[in-house]
Amino acid sequence: MEQKLVVYNSLKGEKESFKPINKDHVGMYVCGPTVYSNVHLGNCRTFISFDLIFRYLQYLGYKVRYVRNITDAGHLENDSDEGEDRIAKKARLESIEPMEVVQRYTIDFRDTMAKFNALPPSIEPTATGHLVEQIEFIKKILDQGYAYEVNGSVYFDVLKFNKDMPYGKLSRRNIEELVHNSRALDGQSDKRNPQDFALWKKAEPKHIMRWPSPWSDGFPGWHLECTAMSTKYLGTQFDIHGGGMDLKFPHHECEIAQAEAVNKKNPVNYWLHANMLTLNGKKMAKSTGNNILPYEMFSGENSILKKSFSPMVTRFFMLQAHYRSIVDLSQSALEASEKGFNRLVEGILMLDQLVASDSSSDFNIGEWNKNCYSAMNDDFNSPSLIAYLFDAVKYINAVSSGLKKISSEDLESLSKSMKGFFYEVLGLLTPEKDKNENESKQLIGTLELLMTLRDNARADKDFKTSDLIRNSLEKIQIQINDTEEGTSFKVY
Ligand SMILES: [Zn+2]
Repeated sequence: MEQKLVVYNSLKGEKESFKPINKDHVGMYVCGPTVYSNVHLGNCRTFISFDLIFRYLQYLGYKVRYVRNITDAGHLENDSDEGEDRIAKKARLESIEPMEVVQRYTIDFRDTMAKFNALPPSIEPTATGHLVEQIEFIKKILDQGYAYEVNGSVYFDVLKFNKDMPYGKLSRRNIEELVHNSRALDGQSDKRNPQDFALWKKAEPKHIMRWPSPWSDGFPGWHLECTAMSTKYLGTQFDIHGGGMDLKFPHHECEIAQAEAVNKKNPVNYWLHANMLTLNGKKMAKSTGNNILPYEMFSGENSILKKSFSPMVTRFFMLQAHYRSIVDLSQSALEASEKGFNRLVEGILMLDQLVASDSSSDFNIGEWNKNCYSAMNDDFNSPSLIAYLFDAVKYINAVSSGLKKISSEDLESLSKSMKGFFYEVLGLLTPEKDKNENESKQLIGTLELLMTLRDNARADKDFKTSDLIRNSLEKIQIQINDTEEGTSFKVY
């Protein structure tokens, strides 16, 4: 940790050196998915970005408490507190319980993230599991005078809050502009002003997801859960809050207002935002068909790409861009990443076969290692780190073909760093190729053992056992041939 980590703080609009509130400990909150459909690749990119950040902070030696929520209630179809609950709508369309929707897509989300080798967060709280905390939080905002109740619903009073504490500092919006640009209320709304947002909504008679509260049977506003849960697990002021760029406004702005209304202090020191993923130069959207789901990408079952790409190639492709830049997914870009990834993997695997010379090295490992850290310390610059890893691969290949030398001390240090950055920081895995190779080695070993057991049985005239082995293997398309030279087998 002798070098300084610098992060781009969206709140300040610039890079700042990173100083956690409690030495050696980091509290990080990231807005998780709303589990009403299969997680899409754009969301995966956000979570892979924060997985990189989580991993690197730990690599530097920090103890990180990473909280990422699961939104299982309260997220309406649009940001103006209108429309149906996304989960309730899906449940209605499919005639199943809302919690079945939640269960199905929570599993999909976790499975997909595991395929991407993303580490699970330290705590994964749900909105429905924290209704008590949310109701308590609303009471506190009401006590401070920054919210009002109308017909069983409670709204945050943005204009009143803004008189005491500036609203809009994260997204750099000014309240006059917001007021000027917002549509007038249609008379149907209970809100005093269009900028106000719901903390609690009274459930309509047909709304199936509802809970009792002092104001009505209803449900919490979407912005509230993150404030209630981040405060509960990370305190009234914590280090990092992350999420997709699209959440900056209104979601994160509202989170800040809610927390400041109660605690009278800035809740988060560093706001980090991951940029979006586009597909063939256009925004991904289900409605236009310009969309591809992770499992469609891994299986190749889609009409957009010509072949399948593994989760590791996809992860590597995403990490080849900085988390704050837009990444465009396309056939050619993925193919290039696949080539690069394979080259990197070969380099990593070759490390164990390199032979050190007893003399000096032709590569300054110390400086290279420092450069790798500097890349990551510069706002988690993974593309720059990957470029240094490729420099090392070039050198590894040259040593392997006898063109360059490496001392045993340097080989050990290069191997440790390369593997550390590849497996632990970038979270990459060597591909299935090795897994398959291992599996086939194990299969061949097992079959050879069975052949020996069968030969022994035949020698003992125990034909019951020898036939059992032959017949059982034939059932699973493994054929045994007894010849004069011995027994052989064929796997079909
Ligand atoms: Zn959130």
